[in-house]
Amino acid sequence: MAACGADKASTAKTVPVTTNNMAFLKNLIAQHLLKLLFGSGQKNVTKEDMKKDTTTYSPNFDERANGQSPSIVLLHYTGMRTACEALERLCDPNAKVSAHYVVDEDGHVRALVVEDKRAWHAGLSFWGGERDINSASIGIEIVNPGHEFGYRVFPQAQIDAVIALCADIKARQNIPTDRFLAHSDVSPARKTDPGELFPWEELAAKGFGLWPSAQEREEDKQAASELCADPEVFKSALVKFGYDPDVRADILTTAFHRHFCPDKILQGASPHVPNEDSAVRLLSLLRQKGVRTA
Ligand SMILES: [Zn+2]
Repeated sequence: MAACGADKASTAKTVPVTTNNMAFLKNLIAQHLLKLLFGSGQKNVTKEDMKKDTTTYSPNFDERANGQSPSIVLLHYTGMRTACEALERLCDPNAKVSAHYVVDEDGHVRALVVEDKRAWHAGLSFWGGERDINSASIGIEIVNPGHEFGYRVFPQAQIDAVIALCADIKARQNIPTDRFLAHSDVSPARKTDPGELFPWEELAAKGFGLWPSAQEREEDKQAASELCADPEVFKSALVKFGYDPDVRADILTTAFHRHFCPDKILQGASPHVPNEDSAVRLLSLLRQKGVRTA
């Protein structure tokens, strides 16, 4: 990424060094010294795969509730005109937003907040009974103008970097395969990122997130037709999968399609209404997650 305004934050010209920042810097230095001395403990990511840049940091973080360790990786798009604009906002103490990592379109990865701290990226959210998703997750912002400023295909170099970063995090933090999620999954009434162009199937093939089989099983025929016949029945199955029970059925269904049946969003054909294909996919996901539907 070309140098931009937020880079100045690293020289403390735009962000005053507070006690909080100093603690963060000490933490960052300690983490890197440990890595230099003992290695990162996993071998599948090399420096060539992923060049993490820690010269920019965000002051926007606090402590994870109850000292918990992260169990979710939450993917976002930045949704701003440029990477620099996004980076400046994520490092602006007045904006009170941040993420652990930002992945630029050329694959450049920046670490803004150390993983054991609580970055502020999820906002009001819910997954599988948890509402403080910031405390439970690691947030990755993927540079893309988003639906508001010209949503576009994610370049392969960027996706490769996201995959390498996910592999690194999963190995070190023991993140369960099914807990690589979209912001739109945990905040379905407010968010649409990283959106229907994000290659979830490619990530799932590498072990980051689930991907449904669209092949209907003989034993699922009855259940699938019952599931899609009533939006409220479909919603209750979505809630079993992890979605927020307090959000309307049509909104949850759209969020589900955005992640797991992106063609429905891309074709714009009633994405808020479940059909047989949606039901087959949801049954497949519930089965992969070991959730009983009966
Ligand atoms: Zn987001």
